[in-house]
Amino acid sequence: MLLAKLSKLSTLYDTCKKDKNESTFYDLLNVFCMTEQKLRYEYYFEMLDNNINDPEFFFSEMKNENIFFIDYQYKCEEETEITNILDSYCECGKKVSQHDSVIELYQLSSDFKEFISDRNKKALDYNGTSWRKNKLILEELRGVNNLVPFLGSGLSKPLGFPSWPELVEEYKEGCSESELLGIQFFLSKKKYLDCFDLIINDVENQNIKNVEHLKQKISWAFKSKKIDNDNNYKDVINLNLPLIITTNYDDNIDISGENRYSSVIFKDIEDIRSIENDNVIIHLHGSAKNTVKSSMIVTKQDYIELYEDDIYMRKLQSILGNKAILFIGYSLDDYYFMDELIKICEANKGFSEYYAFMINVSQADLQSYMPDYYNIIKIISIDISETVEFNCEVINIVRSYLKYINNNLYLMDI
Ligand SMILES: [Zn+2]
Repeated sequence: MLLAKLSKLSTLYDTCKKDKNESTFYDLLNVFCMTEQKLRYEYYFEMLDNNINDPEFFFSEMKNENIFFIDYQYKCEEETEITNILDSYCECGKKVSQHDSVIELYQLSSDFKEFISDRNKKALDYNGTSWRKNKLILEELRGVNNLVPFLGSGLSKPLGFPSWPELVEEYKEGCSESELLGIQFFLSKKKYLDCFDLIINDVENQNIKNVEHLKQKISWAFKSKKIDNDNNYKDVINLNLPLIITTNYDDNIDISGENRYSSVIFKDIEDIRSIENDNVIIHLHGSAKNTVKSSMIVTKQDYIELYEDDIYMRKLQSILGNKAILFIGYSLDDYYFMDELIKICEANKGFSEYYAFMINVSQADLQSYMPDYYNIIKIISIDISETVEFNCEVINIVRSYLKYINNNLYLMDI
């Protein structure tokens, strides 16, 4: 019964959606649940109007499905009275409905609230082991000031961009037999930068002969794509934080941020004050845009020029000092970057706190690949079985965790 009503309204919501609106009817109900008060029609109208066409009609449909609990507020002899039965009698002897200025106040009724809460709990995998292990860290994150999301390639993957190993596999095609052996070795060690060095320096390789060729290829691979695949960029934007840092070359976080953020390539930041009073997305490793593709940090030499440059590193330290950093979308594949970044963090000791979402990661592997990282970062480990739904499930649980951190997930009795 309840499910049938909701699915009917959800279908209707989707047909009324305004362009570019990515929210679902359940997202909206979640927001309604979060408002503990009973509110006037105007509030609901405005919320609906932000998301769909014909909000008035949709509201009346919601009312018809009895999803609201309604109170009637009216004035009688200068006193404000409230009742939930319009047909009842007031102390003055008249019917409630016979008073002037009867105002209806709406709140989602409790069975619908319970449904949304259960749905949210399911999305968090509330009864699973991941949640039990992660809950305390997520709660800690709720209270953190100065949170800075630090975004890695995992966030761009659902949009169809290649991973490091996929790039190496593709670019090694033109290499000589002897270099292929070396590339295979480094691939198995997740040392992708060493792979790129071998690819560029292989005299037999006519496909990619130098670093400019490599960056041209990578620029093509990460050109913005107009793909509607679900992803977590909007969820990061919805955290409403002033600073976001990404090591990704693609510009999907910028597109999701629309006009709310200005984007800058880290090396182009002239002074810290220039970014302090603005909402900023910093591309730490450059951008794949054709006009600035040389900005991409791709080879070992690029990394050295960035991470071993005193001026850049002081700048990065002052940006990160006193911040709590939340890594999202990084894996063991990003081992080299993590290693470099942790050195910077170490120099910042005591000034920052570090957290990371990691998917199906082995703590033991982490500890052996990246001991420094493992020691200072609190890992929010998400374990998901490798089914066909894998990508969707990762996106959903990351979304729920981010909403939870932001106190935007309605949960009853926890
Ligand atoms: Zn009265």
